[in-house]
Amino acid sequence: MMTDIEIAQSTPMKPIGDIAKTAGVAEEYLEYYGRYKAKIDYRLLSDTQAPNGKLILVTAINPTPAGEGKTTTTVGLADALRRMGKNALVALREPSLGPVFGVKGGAAGGGYAQVVPMEDINLHFTGDFHAIGAANNLLAAMLDNHIQQGNALGIDVKRITWKRCVDMNDRQLRNVVDGLGGRMQGVPREDGFDITVASEVMAVLCLATSITDLKERLSRIIVGYTYDEKPVTAGDLKAAGAMAALLKDALKPNLVQTLEGTPAFIHGGPFANIAHGCNSIMATRMALKLGDYAVTEAGFGADLGAEKFLDIKCRMAGLTPDAVVMVATVRALKHHGGVAKADLNTENLEALEKGLPNLLRHVENITKVYGLPCVVAINRFPTDTEAELKLVEDKCRALGVNVALSEVWGKGGEGGLALAEEVVRLCEQPNDFHFAYDAEASIEEKLNAIVTKVYHGDGVVLTPNTRKQMAQLTDLGYGALPICMAKTQYSFSDDQKLLGAPDGFTVTVRNIKVSAGAGFLVALTGDIMTMPGLPKVPAAEKIDVDENGKITGLF
Ligand code: ADP
Ligand code: MG
Repeated sequence: MMTDIEIAQSTPMKPIGDIAKTAGVAEEYLEYYGRYKAKIDYRLLSDTQAPNGKLILVTAINPTPAGEGKTTTTVGLADALRRMGKNALVALREPSLGPVFGVKGGAAGGGYAQVVPMEDINLHFTGDFHAIGAANNLLAAMLDNHIQQGNALGIDVKRITWKRCVDMNDRQLRNVVDGLGGRMQGVPREDGFDITVASEVMAVLCLATSITDLKERLSRIIVGYTYDEKPVTAGDLKAAGAMAALLKDALKPNLVQTLEGTPAFIHGGPFANIAHGCNSIMATRMALKLGDYAVTEAGFGADLGAEKFLDIKCRMAGLTPDAVVMVATVRALKHHGGVAKADLNTENLEALEKGLPNLLRHVENITKVYGLPCVVAINRFPTDTEAELKLVEDKCRALGVNVALSEVWGKGGEGGLALAEEVVRLCEQPNDFHFAYDAEASIEEKLNAIVTKVYHGDGVVLTPNTRKQMAQLTDLGYGALPICMAKTQYSFSDDQKLLGAPDGFTVTVRNIKVSAGAGFLVALTGDIMTMPGLPKVPAAEKIDVDENGKITGLF
């Protein structure tokens, strides 16, 4: 069997100009980045009068550590829609170098459902992440320079929240002391680095609806607090203009293609824990303007990914999805039924049935809490048995849950036709979309709504520290922002070992912070790693490049 990169490299690509024609992008909006990549000028959005196409969100059950195939399904579904003669486009996140060199590998789909050139997409691509890192670090430099030059704003050096960043899994940089060396070498202080995808600049770029909006969001970013507890912003440091200048091209969505020549926007890649975990609003809007169907993905399981897509991104961008695809795998369902990772490849109908409530609860959330049509896509793995696949299908049908087998990983778009037909049908169904909470409610009410309605827990528990932070944030005028939950992706609860569909738990919020530029409150249920480390055997050890520049070992 060929690996993902071998399949990608053995499939001829079309010149990106041809893909732009397929997408209906006029030449004047195209900025070529080599033969197979282009950026699309955002003027396209204001110039195009076309109505929006249908918006399809691909989300999933609580995953196993391997990833369950949301990106693969997103790509394959769009290819299948094209095979049916529909004008479909893809909108996805850009991969981070962290997972590429660490454990998970790339994020450009898999098997015969990939976006290409996968090497470029997984490595530097069009340089967006470097631009985001530069903007982040310009702000850090201007902040420390302000303090060095006399600290007119009265910034409390012990209350600086802004960190430096780099797009690398480098635990060595998590905590650093800098500004050492004497009077002219800066002000010594404890500092740290985040991975670039965890930078608020990333979230800001992905939620910005124009250059003007980008600048306004950048100026609202809080970098720390003064001695009298007032927030200090990038605007106060007069940094927003230069940061936006660094980001002007990064804000333009990147166009590439799937293995079957479907136009795909790959743009922005915020973390799915401390940020909202989906591609840029700009890219989603372009896909909607150009396509009759725009297929997009939200990170992690539906309790986090879809919740944030719907309650944060759709709220901010005024979007309404037309259908939701819930990706499930036999492997993950068996995992929820109690099977250890090493035994997931063995048939186990009992465990599979025991794991089904996880899937059913996610589906019910989409249909009942959010009022959206939903279909389960069973992402077929080579190790799944016929009996296992049939069990999931039968149980879903018996409960009136829409379900389709998806074989896009093995067969490309051809393997997604059943799913695509179901999605087309659902897009015409009544849509009663509403949010899980009202943004105007109190922070505690919003947290409780998420915990009880979406996670099905008994309620939120707030530490004394969190209560104090909540009162301060409300006083500062941030009380009406939507909530971005930072929680384990493996469970509905905040305990990653509570698999399946647990009941009778509470969720403890230990910290609540504001991302004022992004425009949400981040509720942290535990320690969230914003600078990952490399594993014992990093994926980087297998990656190589030959004399002709051909890359191997990416997956
Ligand atoms: P997610 O977007 O949910 O994180 P991906 O689509 O990126 O998941 O897939 C994660 C990994 O699993 C990829 O390496 C992909 O090749 C592999 N994968 C996905 N679907 C299948 C499948 N049906 N059979 C085998 N491997 C698969
Ligand atoms: Mg993915």
